[in-house]
Amino acid sequence: MPSISNTPYLIEEIAKNCKKFAELKITGPCHIKFALTLAAFLPNLKVLSIRCSMIYKDALITILDELKKLEVLNISHCVLIEHPPPSPRRVLKEIDESILHKARRLHKFITCTSDSCLMCTRTRNDGGMTRW
Ligand SMILES: [Zn+2]
Repeated sequence: MPSISNTPYLIEEIAKNCKKFAELKITGPCHIKFALTLAAFLPNLKVLSIRCSMIYKDALITILDELKKLEVLNISHCVLIEHPPPSPRRVLKEIDESILHKARRLHKFITCTSDSCLMCTRTRNDGGMTRW
């Protein structure tokens, strides 16, 4: 997830059948459609981990704005992309102040975008798709 087919169906089924569902860990590119699906069907999510993946800035902002009960967000070792395609791909080296400001309400916002981090380097080399 979220690159598997028909993610909205899967998320909707989780929402219907798992009333206490509160924690989700995904790997794979996290785009705006997936963020909106989470907001629509799992608005009570408390913990979300997207580590070692690619995440678009608009998706990250949607997650921070729309998942109002989110307490923990882990985006460590992620490749953060400024704009979704077809814009030229621009990797953000640092998490900007607008995102940090939105993340202040969380109990934990776990990040790592270090040039010297092996896991960040692997994620960058793999283009945000975990291959190791
Ligand atoms: Zn890292």
